[in-house]
Amino acid sequence: MKLVASKIGGDTAVKLISELKKRKKATEDELAKNTKIRLNELRKILFKLQKFSIITPEVVQDKHSGWMIFYWRLREDQLESIIRSQKRRVLEKLKERLEYERTHDFYICTDRKCGERFTFEEAMEHFFKCPKCGSPMEHFDNSQIIHVLEEKIAQLEKEIERE
Ligand SMILES: [Zn+2]
Repeated sequence: MKLVASKIGGDTAVKLISELKKRKKATEDELAKNTKIRLNELRKILFKLQKFSIITPEVVQDKHSGWMIFYWRLREDQLESIIRSQKRRVLEKLKERLEYERTHDFYICTDRKCGERFTFEEAMEHFFKCPKCGSPMEHFDNSQIIHVLEEKIAQLEKEIERE
């Protein structure tokens, strides 16, 4: 949830959505008061969130005064489906990366401050000398990277399965 919100509108959007999650629906004034976000900024983000269908407007007539009250309501179903498709995209990218790591042999600049990494083909092209700093290259063991990627993928797959 946080990731989606922050991608759309930064920390301010995260604050806004968690406030809406608590209250189910709220007026702009209520939101501004409780999140301490300035009204003009608040409206900008509300507009963005509406564009992604994460929130939806709702007009209710006040029983006592008869006035129309304008609320914003969080669409949790929509938020969840955005999160799901985002997770799938991340999973695809991780799998591509894992495939790349598994099918390539890597070399790294021996100057650790430089730390450039090259595929075997690239290393060959530069005669195993770093084109950035001139230091020699050495073979790079990427098994740790592969291990971390595999763990992340397994974790994400489990999360997606549970949904
Ligand atoms: Zn280098």
